Amino acid sequence: MSPLKTLPPFHTVYVERALLDHRPTRTVIARLPRARVVEVDAYQDVFLRPRQDVVLQKAAPALILARREALLYPLSPLCEAYGAERPHYASTLWGCPYDCGFCFLKGMFGSGHVVAFMNLEDCFAEAEAKGADAVFASFEGDALALSALLPHAAAFVRFAAEHGNVKVELRTRSARIAPLLEGPPLPNLIPAFSLLPESLSSWERGAPSLAARLRAARALQCHGYPVRLCLEPLLGSPAEELALVDAIRRALDPKLILDVNLAPFRMAREQFRRLEPLLPESLPVRESGGVVRLPFGHLAALRAALGRFLPEAKIYIEEERI
Ligand code: SF4
Repeated sequence: MSPLKTLPPFHTVYVERALLDHRPTRTVIARLPRARVVEVDAYQDVFLRPRQDVVLQKAAPALILARREALLYPLSPLCEAYGAERPHYASTLWGCPYDCGFCFLKGMFGSGHVVAFMNLEDCFAEAEAKGADAVFASFEGDALALSALLPHAAAFVRFAAEHGNVKVELRTRSARIAPLLEGPPLPNLIPAFSLLPESLSSWERGAPSLAARLRAARALQCHGYPVRLCLEPLLGSPAEELALVDAIRRALDPKLILDVNLAPFRMAREQFRRLEPLLPESLPVRESGGVVRLPFGHLAALRAALGRFLPEAKIYIEEERI
């Protein structure tokens, strides 16, 4: 089966006129021969239209191919930087083919379409100019999930190969790892898998199963990559989250787990207000200081379970940063 068959169909591709002769853009369009191609002046004309129906759009999203000047930003101190001194995130992809019920992007963008900024070389030049020592490449989208269609994941792998002093994290809920298997493992490239307990799979609509993601993580370990695991967001009961830890222990080589991040659900109040009507079920969140959080009272039990096969220094807890 073609890898494109597992993606949403992208019935429409909006492309900025200035990109019509851009070769990588033309390659993407050629990979979607059945899509209607619509030329636009600027991505904002489609993506920022008022009163969009995010639910309908997520069921049948369009792809928007665009360019933008600023593509790299400092990471918020609220986010885990894993020891980097000048961490940045790449803003080259907005939106995702999956439809997670808790996804902050729906609250942030108000559109279910996917925007791919195609001037990736400008993002890499920014990383050099800003002296980034870590780049989080899949921050507002999932580059690996779309790697059969878009050049983003492969381009970040190349950037990592050419910039050994910059750690590059490719985080995904997919099981799509082909761009990482094409060359030898890179010590500064970090494959990171976002995981939820199998019993909560209905919160991750469209994403591959937990077992498929763990198999992909194991395949990368066999290729020589230590993998990062992100238990995010922590939505399950203690038993469900402990079952996830057990599945990880059984599936992966603990020596090749780079680290594990435990991230309780939290979101800026305004984003949550926009997301709340779209949640599959209500969440008993609490709000303080403009941030909405879902209390998770069992971090110590999770930490202890992970500590049975991982050293303490490899366990990060985002709650401790708030
Ligand atoms: S995989 Fe990540 S970016 Fe995609 S919908 Fe889920 S939470 Fe959002």
